[in-house]
Amino acid sequence: MPNEVRVSPNEVRVSKKGAERYRNGHPWIFRSDIADAAHASPGELVRVLDHRAHLLGHAHYSAASQIALRFVAGPAETFDIAGRIAEAQHFREQVVTDSDAYRLVHAEADRLPALIIDRYGDAFSVQALDQGMDKALPEIIAALENQFRPRAIVARNDSAVRSLEQLPREIKILSGQIEEPVVIHMNGFRIQADVLHGQKTGIYLDQRENYLAAARYASGTALDCFTSTGGFALHLARACDRVEAVDSSTLALEAANANAQMNQIPNLDFREADAFDLLAGYSSARRTFDIVVLDPPAFAKSRKQLEGATRGYKEINLRALRLLGRGGILVTCSCSHHMSEAMLLQIVAEASLDAGKTLRVLERRTQSQDHPILLTVPETHYLKCLIFQVA
Ligand code: SAH
Repeated sequence: MPNEVRVSPNEVRVSKKGAERYRNGHPWIFRSDIADAAHASPGELVRVLDHRAHLLGHAHYSAASQIALRFVAGPAETFDIAGRIAEAQHFREQVVTDSDAYRLVHAEADRLPALIIDRYGDAFSVQALDQGMDKALPEIIAALENQFRPRAIVARNDSAVRSLEQLPREIKILSGQIEEPVVIHMNGFRIQADVLHGQKTGIYLDQRENYLAAARYASGTALDCFTSTGGFALHLARACDRVEAVDSSTLALEAANANAQMNQIPNLDFREADAFDLLAGYSSARRTFDIVVLDPPAFAKSRKQLEGATRGYKEINLRALRLLGRGGILVTCSCSHHMSEAMLLQIVAEASLDAGKTLRVLERRTQSQDHPILLTVPETHYLKCLIFQVA
């Protein structure tokens, strides 16, 4: 009888539903699908058995999170962290061009669940987001040291997700020394990254390819809303007469200004303001731009927040569209995984009707390729970047 299957130390048994989810290509098992984890300890690498006691594979066990298991290897595989990091680097060598800063490991998408590693030249930033990866940190550090001889490895373990795993939230230097800010090279620019305290792990690496895409349509005057350290704005400045960029964070704008100076860009003005208010003010003043970029923070951090988020996205898109004349370009982004591309398209469609503008879809883009997307793991796809032209 299946229910009488006993688990040995190091083993966890899952329900039929849990096993099916895994066989359908998803590496997570939720706590509700755990049949027996009596022997498993926090962060342990366990053998996972299905309801018939067949070995499904190997996973990290979390004693705290609703995501109780994250698979790291198949039944006949051993979990070799150094090997996985080397594979991840090999893939980046194929897809990253003109940048010494990129996401080296994108968690589940690189078969290193709950592990994120960002590379800023010879400085590395690590986020261990579950008990298993937290426990594996010494092995992860050793692998990075052997493969890359880094100047510094820092832990950006300040993410709120760590609380769900009952892990401390902290930022610390794991190896080497770091001189802030780190200066990296991207798309022909020198860009500074505050690897210890900046937003995300320093800069937004996921928009790297979208900066170039947006710049291809840019001319005249540009407005970059939610500019952070100035990524879109710098790229637009190469193609436009004047660029205005807005953010509400003083710290981000200091870095943005430093980036403009370091690259000797004269036609770029940064403004500290609330983007919603600024857009409304410009629309009342009948100001116009040739291109507007919207890259707000994730308005929907969970499914429950989707309704409020929908209103937020609609409002900024409507306000931005009012600033664009015929031929004008709207670049609009959402980094909420819960906001699908179809939903965002619908929101922009409604905003365009309210604004009385017909939009032509120029490009439907996503995160840069160093943040790979796995077809059967929808959580790995989070960024949408849509480019429209007013017809
Ligand atoms: N486009 C940026 C990333 C933007 S992240 C890049 O490519 O680097 C979102 C940014 O929105 C953050 O920098 C945050 O400080 C800013 N922000 C959040 N709420 C805001 C608001 N109401 N008005 C203006 N900026 C805001």
